[in-house]
Amino acid sequence: MISLDDATNSVWQQMSALPVVECSFSDAYGCVLAADVVATENVPPFANTAVDGYAVRAQDVGVVPCELRVVGELAAGAAPTIAISAGEAIRIMTGAPIPDGADAIVMVEDTMRVGASHVRITRSVKSGAAIRAAGSDVATGDVVFRAGTEMNAVAVGVLSSINARTVKVYRRAVVGVLSTGDELVDNGSALQMGQIRESNRTMLVRMVQEAGATAIDLGIIKDDEALLEATLLQAATRVDALVTSGGVSMGDYDVVKIVLSRIADMKWMQIAMKPAKPFAFGLLVAGERTVPVFGLPGNPVSSMVSFELLARPALRTMSGHGAGAYRQRVLVVVDETFQRKRDGKVHFDRVFAYWGNDGRVHVRRNGAQGSHQLAASASANALLEVVDGDGLTANEQAWALLIGPVMAS
Ligand code: AMP
Ligand code: MG
Repeated sequence: MISLDDATNSVWQQMSALPVVECSFSDAYGCVLAADVVATENVPPFANTAVDGYAVRAQDVGVVPCELRVVGELAAGAAPTIAISAGEAIRIMTGAPIPDGADAIVMVEDTMRVGASHVRITRSVKSGAAIRAAGSDVATGDVVFRAGTEMNAVAVGVLSSINARTVKVYRRAVVGVLSTGDELVDNGSALQMGQIRESNRTMLVRMVQEAGATAIDLGIIKDDEALLEATLLQAATRVDALVTSGGVSMGDYDVVKIVLSRIADMKWMQIAMKPAKPFAFGLLVAGERTVPVFGLPGNPVSSMVSFELLARPALRTMSGHGAGAYRQRVLVVVDETFQRKRDGKVHFDRVFAYWGNDGRVHVRRNGAQGSHQLAASASANALLEVVDGDGLTANEQAWALLIGPVMAS
């Protein structure tokens, strides 16, 4: 067996970011910038009002209450056509440009209309009140985002706001996902004896997407060497990485092992962890392309855990993520005993992590832990590291990898 650290190092050191592409600001969502983004325009583009109210000269409303003559109206989107002079005001809506002559806005709540032509101002304002200056969000020439930043939903909104029509990002990895096994069924048909419903590929396709990559579903492949070889070689011509499930351990029909040993430069690992001891990583050369292959074990929980620990950070590195390629590893308080026997492996228990009243992250058990018992893992938001030994006792601290948001309770 090799340590998990040795396994991850041997995988991750082979990974590098994919080529840089230019993509539209909206498609940049989830991608990592390969170049700084510099604003070429001001946001807002012109001074405008932050509130609905009246554009005034601050000096006219120094003594209140006072009355001003309303000489016009300005909605958002309209260009001012008239200026205001002493004793005058313009009714103005949020976002509308400030008319010439005005230097402050009185919010509508501090006014009262007097007939059709006048407004009573009940509160004084200082020059500049409720005016949003041009460029007060982003100014022309500002470096809005540095290279290496992941574009989240707000960030693509900002790109849109500065009219950054396209940005340079690392290409998102395209990842082919397949499962292997004669026993697998995914068409809803009645199960014959010996058959089971497929789960891993369905799960892994979504885990790939959730990792910010593009998944290509290559389906269920029978335990048939020729079919698997043809599928892998064909897929390798159009993907950046391959993720397979099943067939990497010691069984007689572990065809993934047989085929990949023949067509790719693979490293077959027995990692000192539970679940997910068997794991394979290697490079498949297809024409000009060298495609990393992640051979995950077939037991569903093992598939999930080895994807999380080994494949996910690698795929995110390919998509240009730096430190953001990795899940957060945090020190948690365990609420109950996590018993185990010494076996030379680190155990990863799927647990529920929540914020305790003491301001620390606590974890508790989250259902059955067998490597075939996927159901309990669906609601787990952390993998608790139970290091080799007798286990953990209640209130002890241990490290956990957060695979979802820490919950409130
Ligand atoms: P294997 O690694 O192919 O020996 O599979 C180990 C165990 O996981 C067996 O019980 C398989 O039936 C099961 N298994 C393999 N692949 C899948 C899959 N895609 N979905 C559900 N169970 C699977
Ligand atoms: Mg199998």
